[in-house]
Amino acid sequence: MLKIHNLGFPRIGDQRQLKFALEKFWRGELTENELLATAADIRQHNWKVQANCGLDLIPVGDFSLYDQVLDSCCLLGVIPHRFQSPSSSTIDLHTYFRMARGRSVDGQSFRALEMTKWFDTNYHCMVPEVDPAQKFNLNPQSLLEQIEEITTLGLPAKPVIIGPLTWLWLAKTTSSFDKLSLLEDLTTTYAELLHILKGLNITWVQIDEPVLGMDLPDCWQDAFKTTYDRLQHNAPKLLLTSYFSGLQDNLPLACQLPVDGIHLDLIRDPQQWQEALKYLPAGKVLSVGLINGRNIWKNDLPQTYQTLLHIKNDHKGDLWLAPSCSLLHVPVDLDSENQLDEEVKSRLAFARQKLTELELLRLAVAEGITAVGKEFNDVTSCLHQHSSAIEHPEIRQRCTQLNEAMYQRSSPFSIRKPLQQQHLNLPLFPTTTIGSFPQTDKIRQTRKAFKQGDISAQQYKTEMEQNVRFCIDQQLALGLDVLVHGEAERNDMVEYFGEQLEGFAFTRYGWVQSYGSRCVKPPVIYGDIQRPQAMTTAWINYAQSLTDRPVKGMLTGPVTILNWSFVREDIPRSETATQLALALRDEVCDLEANGVAIIQIDEAALREGLPLRKHDQAGYLHWAIRAFRLTASGVADKTQIHTHMCYSEFNDIIESIADMDADVITIETSRSNMELLDAFVDFNYPNDIGPGVYDIHSPNIPETEAILALMKKAQIRINAPQLWVNPDCGLKTRNWNEVTDALNNMVTAAIMLRSAYRQNSN
Ligand code: GLN
Ligand code: ZN
Repeated sequence: MLKIHNLGFPRIGDQRQLKFALEKFWRGELTENELLATAADIRQHNWKVQANCGLDLIPVGDFSLYDQVLDSCCLLGVIPHRFQSPSSSTIDLHTYFRMARGRSVDGQSFRALEMTKWFDTNYHCMVPEVDPAQKFNLNPQSLLEQIEEITTLGLPAKPVIIGPLTWLWLAKTTSSFDKLSLLEDLTTTYAELLHILKGLNITWVQIDEPVLGMDLPDCWQDAFKTTYDRLQHNAPKLLLTSYFSGLQDNLPLACQLPVDGIHLDLIRDPQQWQEALKYLPAGKVLSVGLINGRNIWKNDLPQTYQTLLHIKNDHKGDLWLAPSCSLLHVPVDLDSENQLDEEVKSRLAFARQKLTELELLRLAVAEGITAVGKEFNDVTSCLHQHSSAIEHPEIRQRCTQLNEAMYQRSSPFSIRKPLQQQHLNLPLFPTTTIGSFPQTDKIRQTRKAFKQGDISAQQYKTEMEQNVRFCIDQQLALGLDVLVHGEAERNDMVEYFGEQLEGFAFTRYGWVQSYGSRCVKPPVIYGDIQRPQAMTTAWINYAQSLTDRPVKGMLTGPVTILNWSFVREDIPRSETATQLALALRDEVCDLEANGVAIIQIDEAALREGLPLRKHDQAGYLHWAIRAFRLTASGVADKTQIHTHMCYSEFNDIIESIADMDADVITIETSRSNMELLDAFVDFNYPNDIGPGVYDIHSPNIPETEAILALMKKAQIRINAPQLWVNPDCGLKTRNWNEVTDALNNMVTAAIMLRSAYRQNSN
């Protein structure tokens, strides 16, 4: 009998209840008990939803008040010293939130744990911190309470824990030592936990080891063997799960570990089950992830059914079916969407709908395809329709008519640079900002009022123009060299463009957790993309009309729009990227035709789309960089193209960054003390660079001295005539006082840099 189960369910609540409760708690408006009650309600609701879909095993421990990696730190008792109160050894809620966000209700501030992307998702997890003498102290209370909750409901619980190797892989060491030296103690703690769970009559534990989908050094592969050899004793049955990538060279290893079953992501690597069956000992459970946990399209049930039959036929043990990964990465419930285009909606499945798909597939396997005839036919007709909203022959045709010249600026940078300088006449160390200025309550209210039809288009335009004028005046007063219009009209850097392009749909409640209480609502790209009309020229023209200094045109790049959306699967991602690039290229050319001399194309999310495996990275970089070039290359040599990237981990992709051939790249470097620039130095990066001189995420005002010190470091690495001076990201989350003080110091620093440079060269 085919068993169905789930790896994890969204925990934010179908109405984002957890978000609102958390934020109230942090503001001191909710008691601890009230917060915990909301959390318990969400858990119970989630379990019941999953039980109603007939799941044979329901995850417990996948819920978190903030983040599952932070929870695992607490479970293992890994609390850095700065958070430990001398009086108590337990981890209370305040300590928990201090680790997460640097403060709890009392307002006292701490240096929070760092955040990083959870593998290749847009979810951010906390980074465990370990030191060479790290001790582990099992602290299972919270998990045990949740197990008790679900058991009381009479539901079949499957505790979910992050595996020891993945946990250790994610950990950051406070000094340089080999993390693997901690593995023995860590494993002891895990063994202790598994022993307790066995005592509770838990039959299965899901142990997540997504690092199995990465390129693992030999010593880590060996560590898997020694660790799981120890964990198998006196433990419940273990289901070893991996996701986000195929196991490839780790597959024999994973199959032969002494666990009772393995789960494979067959969305990311559909064929790996065949290879797995060569190594998987008979009698072991094979769990197949055939429902996509990373995207929101309905499953092609008839096709999945056929795959299931094949696997069932070849596998000599129990077969389980599940989503490919935790459903954390998709919105909760499509039924809430009451304003979505029916045709688009008919093709979508959110978390709850995906569970129903599991149920249907189980029924089909158990009773034959006739038992699900209607549902299967419905899916086929929804998924295979070719409506005019999805396919535009003109767009398709345009995509086939691209030639190499469209991916190239007319001349190399060395020729463009003097032409641009003639045109722009900028000083050395030109100063600029990344695009957005503070998004005040007033701005948000105005946008909302316009959206709801409470104010007219004319009123909206007047108010927004006032804002642009204010931003320009401030920048002129500060003495910045290259100005921006401030982005007041933009709610979000992707949504703003998606809303103006064809081929995009927007949900009302399609929230996905990004970190802690933060959620994002990614647009849905469902059809061919085209730009009905210019999107940004009116605002930029207005801004430019107010000043003689250059105002940058400001666009979000094709790869970032793609990576921060739910993307269609009926054509390759690369093709959607090309369509986006063409639409944005038209915008770039329109801006130039309107006299805009500098155009910035933000690619904040380029890095995070990089596949986990080295071997897959080149393919992605190839089409992603080409999409950027296609966007940027329609302009004359004298027009200056900027790009901006946050999270500038560039060492392994610097060649591709250079290949983007932007005239200027502004990057985040202040937190790493300019160390991130080393990649550019080693590579001898030829174009101009604006290394961020202060961290905009912090309310602290950077001193002129600090900025100078950073720029001196930058000058050791990069020639002065290549350097710009700018903050490390947009300023929309800051207030005006912070912004003017900080930029004042930044401009002062630039002036001092110029005179020092002139003196030195005389
Ligand atoms: N231009 C955008 C801004 O300034 C860039 C944001 C980003 O990089 N995330 O807000
Ligand atoms: Zn940024």
